[in-house]
Amino acid sequence: MTTIGVIGLGIMGGPMAANLVTAGHTVLGHDTQQAAAERLVTAGGKYVDTIAAATDADVVITMLPDSPQVEEVVLGPGGVLEHARPGLLLVDMSTIRPDTSIAVAAAAAARGVRALDAPVSGGEKGAVDGVLSIMVGGDAEAFEAARPLFEVLGKTIVHVGPSGAGQTVKAANQLVVGGIYALVAEAIVLLEASGVEPGPGLDVLAGGLAGSRILELKRESMVARQFAPGFRIDLHHKDMGIALAAAREAGVALPMTGLTAQLIAAARAQGHGSLDHSALLKVLETVSGK
Ligand code: NAD
Repeated sequence: MTTIGVIGLGIMGGPMAANLVTAGHTVLGHDTQQAAAERLVTAGGKYVDTIAAATDADVVITMLPDSPQVEEVVLGPGGVLEHARPGLLLVDMSTIRPDTSIAVAAAAAARGVRALDAPVSGGEKGAVDGVLSIMVGGDAEAFEAARPLFEVLGKTIVHVGPSGAGQTVKAANQLVVGGIYALVAEAIVLLEASGVEPGPGLDVLAGGLAGSRILELKRESMVARQFAPGFRIDLHHKDMGIALAAAREAGVALPMTGLTAQLIAAARAQGHGSLDHSALLKVLETVSGK
């Protein structure tokens, strides 16, 4: 049994913490929102109201929205590194900039703390079911130390390289996911505008070469215009920014990613930032005057 601090108990961190409790670990959860605290306690975890208390653990997992929150919680005054005991394993599972993960790992090493970037894919359902894909950057020994916890949270667990590499792989994941959503949305617009029932049409697509997890899991809710998050447009907008910044840093051009990023920016500008990213369909409808 391991004592694990989990900081960030939202859509993803909440069920991940619950799964760690179910697996027999002691979970000290922290979040700034009361509702998140209540969910953890219901799941059998212990809520603590400071980062310091959550850091009194063998492992600290952070699952926060973006780079600034990770910097604040880990590096800031009163943050994890200020309270960490040497040997602590810090696993940031948020999706953030690769260069922030590299900076966090360097600051952690200076305090005798081992740090991994371990962003995930699989959405809320993957978090609830404990079947996330986990892409891990950092040193191999720290990865092996964290593996038993990753096996509680995920199904596909891959050490992809040094610090920051997990985030670069996640950026690649997000540009593919965004592009597929945009194209599924265009397929729905075309089918409906042509008078073809989209449900059966998408069933065929899902079973052929065009098939994907997105078509498998989201086609019915998209056709029904059910856009409850899930994964918010606001967060995908953040991730496209990370992907484009990484591309600039690497000196490559990603034209499809640029276009997808603009469509997601449009969804946000149209006031859909709190909806699920499948709400990209609303933008593609608007483009066609639907
Ligand atoms: P969320 O907004 O539901 O959860 C984030 C939680 O962090 C919130 O409960 C918030 O109150 C808390 N928080 C923010 N600042 C804090 C602070 N300073 N101290 C303590 N708690 C703080 O977001 P989410 O959907 O769970 O996403 C978390 C991360 O996982 C993001 O980086 C996101 O990109 C990534 N992610 C999300 C999904 C998804 O489907 N939702 C899938 C894969 C990856």
